[in-house]
Amino acid sequence: MVTVFPEEMLNKSSLERKVLSPPKKDEELFLQSKETGAAREVIEGHNRQRFANHFNYADPYCGNPKTYDHQGNYNCGRCNQAVGDKCLLLKIAKIDRKAGSCEDWEVIDAGDTEMTLYNKHPETASYGIAKNGKGFGCHRCPYASKAYSPDSLGRTLYCGKGDFRVFPNACCLANGAELINE
Ligand code: SF4
Ligand code: SF4
Repeated sequence: MVTVFPEEMLNKSSLERKVLSPPKKDEELFLQSKETGAAREVIEGHNRQRFANHFNYADPYCGNPKTYDHQGNYNCGRCNQAVGDKCLLLKIAKIDRKAGSCEDWEVIDAGDTEMTLYNKHPETASYGIAKNGKGFGCHRCPYASKAYSPDSLGRTLYCGKGDFRVFPNACCLANGAELINE
């Protein structure tokens, strides 16, 4: 059989990969590095991208910028898919406009059409209502701490979950917010 891929590319399961294991502060969180400069930012950039891919992390320069809330709340009331107390995407009777949110939050944009899907299960979308009644975001996240110094783009917090610096108003799925009915 003729294939465009050489055999060694099709069977890569035994290929050696680098596995990072940065020092930890405790069982749950990584220890913030005091290192600054380009080499450190390259490491953090990769870690941040990992969180963008697997935990929907977004800020103006990483992940999907349309899922970045410059107000840092990520509440349903400011999402493109909310219409009144209904969500166009989720199969949910009612959303909480003030403190509800899910992994599909998107900035309100007149140029971004939505559709009457009412289809995605709330659990699949990690829908939840923040106990604080206000919303989510790195600035409220128990896994964030003040960065020793901002990175070159101005990220002022350190994410101990993923080992990279973040903007206070960024967010991700691992946000640690206490939820109602949890
Ligand atoms: S449930 Fe998710 S997609 Fe629906 S309005 Fe709220 S944040 Fe947006
Ligand atoms: S600080 Fe919290 S919300 Fe922000 S990226 Fe890290 S885990 Fe996610």
